[in-house]
Amino acid sequence: MAILTVQKVSKYYEKKKVLDDVSFSLEKGEILVIIGASGSGKSTLLRCINQLEKIDEGNIIIQEQKMIREVKKGKPIYEKKDKLEKMNLSCGMVFQNFNLFPHLSILENITKAPMTVLKQDRKTAEQIANQLLIKMGIENKSDQYPCTLSGGQQQRVSIARALAIRPEIIFMDEPTSALDPELIGEVLKVIEELAKEKRTMVIVTHEIGLAEEIADRVIFMDQGKIIEEGTPQEVIGNPKQKRTREFLTRYQKKQLRFGDGS
Ligand code: ADP
Ligand code: MG
Repeated sequence: MAILTVQKVSKYYEKKKVLDDVSFSLEKGEILVIIGASGSGKSTLLRCINQLEKIDEGNIIIQEQKMIREVKKGKPIYEKKDKLEKMNLSCGMVFQNFNLFPHLSILENITKAPMTVLKQDRKTAEQIANQLLIKMGIENKSDQYPCTLSGGQQQRVSIARALAIRPEIIFMDEPTSALDPELIGEVLKVIEELAKEKRTMVIVTHEIGLAEEIADRVIFMDQGKIIEEGTPQEVIGNPKQKRTREFLTRYQKKQLRFGDGS
């Protein structure tokens, strides 16, 4: 049964339709990679699922809980706050620019949500955080502040922070796009590890190589719409749509040029 269903979702910014009748679903343990040109609505889609933006039409269902309770005069009415918060705890989000709290240490960045939202005691939260830091290969950084870490290290902390709430689904929005080329590999390695553990993930990325390697399914978005969907072999290896082919030609060329397409 689907763990996440996005049902005919549309979203406008002012008059501009940035998500246009988007529907897909995700099974437990499945890895979905979303590709598409800049401005095609990928971030907005993840932000709507993570309740950082509101939708104007459709519904989002996470573990059988609907986000929209009813539609009144054409406007979606969201569920009550406590239900929405519970749904949001099923979702861990990793942002392109890390979004760590600059005034908190690495350890505090990771323990904050488990202590405040999940009501874990400090000792338990710190134990879990330390295990996650070991998993991310940055166990000796726990007392430091984000600004003293490299981008690759900050992004690994941000992945640890997302995992600390034990989410059912992990969302990553271009997790390697803000990194210097030499730091991309260390973050890709962590993502590949999570993939091996069969974590349920939705990853927006321009790393076509990563999509080919770990995705069970690939979605190509263009101008707020899902244009093509299938296995990596289908969408990347043998795209049916002209726009998908054009996009892939552009990005695969770019990766060859910069040598970071592995
Ligand atoms: P992507 O992540 O695929 O690059 P986005 O979801 O960021 O695309 O953006 C989709 C469209 O929505 C773009 O045209 C972008 O300019 C617009 N947009 C994104 N965020 C906002 C915002 N907060 N206000 C107005 N327009 C926005
Ligand atoms: Mg984006």
